[in-house]
Amino acid sequence: MGQLVYIKDVVTLKLDQEKCTGCGICLLVCPHAVLSLTNGSVKIENRDACMECGACAQNCPSDAVTVNAGVGCAAAIINAALGREGDSCCCVIEPKETSNNADTCSKGGKEVSCC
Ligand code: SF4
Ligand code: SF4
Repeated sequence: MGQLVYIKDVVTLKLDQEKCTGCGICLLVCPHAVLSLTNGSVKIENRDACMECGACAQNCPSDAVTVNAGVGCAAAIINAALGREGDSCCCVIEPKETSNNADTCSKGGKEVSCC
């Protein structure tokens, strides 16, 4: 089976080479082999395979890697296309006056509908 690839060129993953010490922890925790390490130098090898899980950023001791972790880029794109205000969880913010969804919950003081 081929490598999973998400929507192209939308991943928020960033690597700051100045801060990176080449410890290799990000490679160990990445489930999709997005990063590579050669002679102590890390680079983003396969950006579009990143699922924005956030494991690399959480475990990097030098804050060299950052990513907007959430449910993934697809949700943000779909919500934007629908004119919805984005959020980084499984919920989307619905205007109160147009939401008839009984399955609403509260997050951060806003009323949201859950998937
Ligand atoms: S966010 Fe997850 S999938 Fe993306 S590079 Fe980091 S560890 Fe790998
Ligand atoms: S965990 Fe951070 S410091 Fe270590 S190799 Fe990865 S980016 Fe560089």
